[in-house]
Amino acid sequence: MPDDHATFPKSGRPKPSLATRLSHAGRAGTHVHGFVNPPVHRGSTVLYPDMATRAAMGNARFEQAMVYGVLGGPTHHALEDVVAEIEGGTRCQIVSSGLAAVTTPLLAYLSAGDHCLMPDAVYGPARGFCDGLLARMGVETTYYDPCIGADALSALFRPNTKVLYTESPGSHTFEVQDVPALAAVAHARGAKVLMDNTWGIHFFQPFLHGVDVSIQALTKYVVGHSDVLLGSMTTNSVEDWEIVRGTTLALGQYASPDDCWLALRGARTMAVRMQRQMQSALTVARWLEGRHEVKQVLYPALPGAPGHEIWKRDFTGACSLFGVVFQPGYSEASVHGMTEALELFGMGASWGGFESLALPTSVTRTAGSGDFGGQLLRLHVGLEDPGDLIADLEAAFPRLQANSVP
Ligand SMILES: *Cc1c(COP(=O)(O)O)cnc(C)c1O
Repeated sequence: MPDDHATFPKSGRPKPSLATRLSHAGRAGTHVHGFVNPPVHRGSTVLYPDMATRAAMGNARFEQAMVYGVLGGPTHHALEDVVAEIEGGTRCQIVSSGLAAVTTPLLAYLSAGDHCLMPDAVYGPARGFCDGLLARMGVETTYYDPCIGADALSALFRPNTKVLYTESPGSHTFEVQDVPALAAVAHARGAKVLMDNTWGIHFFQPFLHGVDVSIQALTKYVVGHSDVLLGSMTTNSVEDWEIVRGTTLALGQYASPDDCWLALRGARTMAVRMQRQMQSALTVARWLEGRHEVKQVLYPALPGAPGHEIWKRDFTGACSLFGVVFQPGYSEASVHGMTEALELFGMGASWGGFESLALPTSVTRTAGSGDFGGQLLRLHVGLEDPGDLIADLEAAFPRLQANSVP
């Protein structure tokens, strides 16, 4: 029986696979009388046994130490240990949303007068943060083609470039980035490599590919049930963790322990959900590929899809979020009509839950990338039977045709 989440796995045995670690990491162990799950620790005040202890806690903000609620408690730290397992990192810091996990490390590594490189396909609110708050603080952002090569990226670097941000694949248009090649350029120039790894989760091990800080919207597959917002930043070194944690605490960022507990519960079943959802997504994607209305399916796991070769090289699997490009000639209104006709795919933002979603995609680009030659629809495949999902799509396709008549 594991006796402490911090010491799992016990020494002397080879590291077990992720599915096993997701079952065993972050448990309560002997701390709560043998109950499997840790309790929810809520709290602001933490009582010190004596003043000497309080004096010794001066540096506690750089430990997973429990001296005041905002620094986190046992429930936060149990989840942080599980997320570090998922990403293969050293340490993790939880924040209140995926977006906070995007903005906090940008604020941690960028100061007035610095320059940041962002992929053109980046998550929309990240673009909004760069163009808004970061610009106001005197940080300049250059957007680059997500499929850029090392030489062209190198030419975009300036002496004051402090951050190379990556998101692979892009969560609306699914460009797979050559992260190891781009990270090598950044490190040669002394810049940090941040990555939004929400799509790849455990299928992309960021620290084996040159990433310094890996961002997760835990809201998506880790929580897995569309009922909690949470984010995480995982690092591969204690030094980077201290920088990220320092900024988290300076901002007063805090996540609810109840939400952390729900994310821990979600993580227990994540490996099996992902396996099933990937298989279902492949089934639905292959069916869509055969439709004459579909120009292209943007799913890196699909042989022949854009980015498939890099995906095969760097990823061990895929999540169940992908895009569809319709043939030119189908109007936006027609795609909206088809989406509204779906009965099992809900229309809504977010993804990674148990339920399927469909959302027409609008593309914002400033670096010239992103001409897909047709309307885009993003699909999230949930835990429903893929045969039922295909039947739902099949029933909605006539709406696309009817609406496309001029
Ligand atoms: C959803 C999402 C986020 C933000 O997560 P929230 O918890 O919704 O704030 C960040 N990055 C990507 C790629 C996302 O899809």
